[in-house]
Amino acid sequence: MTYTKEAIKQEVKENRVEFILLEFTDMLGDTKNVELPAEELDMILNDEAMFDSSSISGFSEIQESDMYLVPDLDTFLILPSLVDEDRSARFICDIYKTDGTPFEGDPRYILKRAMKEAEEMGYTVNVGPEPEFFLFKLDENGYPIREMNDRGGYFDASPIDKGDKVRRDIVRTLKKFGFEMEASHHEVAMGQHEINFRFDNMLKTADNIQTFKSVVKDIATNHSYHATFMPKPFSGENGSGMHCHLSLFKDGDSAFYDEDAKDGVSKTMKQFIAGILHHADGITAITNPNVNSYKRLVPGYEAPVSVAWSHSNRSCMIRVPNTRGKGTRFEVRNPDPTANPYLTLAVLIHAGLDGIRNELDAGEAESRNLYEVTDDSVPTLPTNLKEAIQALKKDELLMNALGDHTSQAYVDDKQQEWTEYSLRVSSWEIHRYMNK
Ligand code: GLN
Ligand code: MG
Ligand code: MG
Ligand code: MG
Repeated sequence: MTYTKEAIKQEVKENRVEFILLEFTDMLGDTKNVELPAEELDMILNDEAMFDSSSISGFSEIQESDMYLVPDLDTFLILPSLVDEDRSARFICDIYKTDGTPFEGDPRYILKRAMKEAEEMGYTVNVGPEPEFFLFKLDENGYPIREMNDRGGYFDASPIDKGDKVRRDIVRTLKKFGFEMEASHHEVAMGQHEINFRFDNMLKTADNIQTFKSVVKDIATNHSYHATFMPKPFSGENGSGMHCHLSLFKDGDSAFYDEDAKDGVSKTMKQFIAGILHHADGITAITNPNVNSYKRLVPGYEAPVSVAWSHSNRSCMIRVPNTRGKGTRFEVRNPDPTANPYLTLAVLIHAGLDGIRNELDAGEAESRNLYEVTDDSVPTLPTNLKEAIQALKKDELLMNALGDHTSQAYVDDKQQEWTEYSLRVSSWEIHRYMNK
């Protein structure tokens, strides 16, 4: 939907909107917002909404903490109110500095830079994400407890699946948000669920992922559950991923489909894949951003462990589904839903374009079950956050993709997270070593 300022003013008036939410995403992928009364709409539309960014992760620069929230008019939405009298609307915003230039640490800006680079090479990219999440029960005070909402498994039906009503409510709400919804189902682990929505261009998809996560959390709360996108709440059970399906277009045609190729896959697609495999270790620092992320990337739980590609193998970082023609695409399987979607898509695109530019070779598709390959013939993804951050630091292309400000702030933040974690003594260690 493309809106003019006049059309927005009209909508706000007609719908008697009282509050305007200005949303953006911080470096760590959390949605932030500030709410203004609708009387401030003119000021907002004049790009004059100022905020103090000094307490936002990845934004703070003491000498420049005042920044502007510039609404992206295309993201205007009258919120389908969860409470009837709560009449509010939202914009997703870009962050600008007081000198009128974009803030280079704004994740949305970092993604826009990546998209521009693709456009300069004549490409547009579509992405379809598959976010998974868990529903947990709440205690009498409304705080989450470590007990899942049901004992269901993959595709289980009601009454074993006790998430069906919540998922339906989420789907219904997202449709009102303008989402084109696809399948939703119980996932493999107890209390685990998945809801899919249609692919779109990268910016729209990243915005959608953020809206999706907020809606899932809100609706779960309405049903007295807690929704978490934490990648691995239980060892010994599947974790939550956010596979991303990427397709590339040039002049309206798929740049990934080649009807003359034996497998229907173009050279461009293989080079794009090769670029992602080449930068895999550093990419992982962004797509799998926390200590817990690496407890998901282990053999046996449908999460990838190998830096390889395949037509069917779920142990590989990249899988190419069977669809051909316009739907020719590949699935990046390592991202998890705690990743900042803007940064995730930015690094994937920069890496893929690097593969095309340097005509990198992805090698043959892997057909072995890599969970069972124990020799060193296939490289593995980083096994913890520290390894991933070290790889990111060494990867000039990815550091440039993030820009000076964010690459530095991100590495600092994540190194600190690792240090904090590594100083803790866990109950596993007590069990294991107490009798020494
Ligand atoms: N939960 C799995 C993961 O961690 C994916 C399972 C699936 O969608 N087949 O990636
Ligand atoms: Mg799926
Ligand atoms: Mg799934
Ligand atoms: Mg998938």
